[in-house]
Amino acid sequence: MSKQQDERETLFAALTEQAQGCQLCPRMMGRTRVLGPLNGSIHAAVMFVAEAPGRLGADRTAAPLQSDVSGRNFTQFIASIGWRREDVFITNAVLCNPRDERGCNATPSRREVGNCNPLLRATIDLIQPRCVVALGATALHALARIAPHTASLSRDVATALPWYGRYLFPLYHPGPRALIKRNREQQLADYARLTVFCEVIISTNNYG
Ligand code: SF4
Repeated sequence: MSKQQDERETLFAALTEQAQGCQLCPRMMGRTRVLGPLNGSIHAAVMFVAEAPGRLGADRTAAPLQSDVSGRNFTQFIASIGWRREDVFITNAVLCNPRDERGCNATPSRREVGNCNPLLRATIDLIQPRCVVALGATALHALARIAPHTASLSRDVATALPWYGRYLFPLYHPGPRALIKRNREQQLADYARLTVFCEVIISTNNYG
């Protein structure tokens, strides 16, 4: 392992520890802080940012986008383009699972997204992906708080936009609600466009 890779491992371990101790959001008490080795490769060229860990998924397993319906869809989408989870990095706008008063998955509040934004920024700064894929509107909003962008999900889906020294690539969230707006066939086509784009930027060393 090179000295630079070694340093990145050390910094990621420190960031993970910081996240594990975070108590900023009152309703996240007792929830898993989903940041650690199961998020993927810290040397990845592509980072996926979704909304929040799911109650039946990453909150139980600490592996983002894997064991619930959204996770199974996501796994199918990346498999369709020949990608493996361990070759990319996967995280969320908030690192903990927000729940409503009935104990169901909830959308993170703007305050919670703001609270977690420094951890998201630090993760991007550390991993330095060439392409950040925003999975849904909450992820786009969280990324705009790091560096402004004008991307809109409906207008810019599966289109690469220069952002924060790299590219931003908006896609719909793989969850069941988003599949109503953008069906499975359309999302598979979006992932096909993502892989074509990433092959070009990686082979040409092109940054946003
Ligand atoms: S969501 Fe983020 S900011 Fe809020 S408690 Fe969890 S780690 Fe901390």
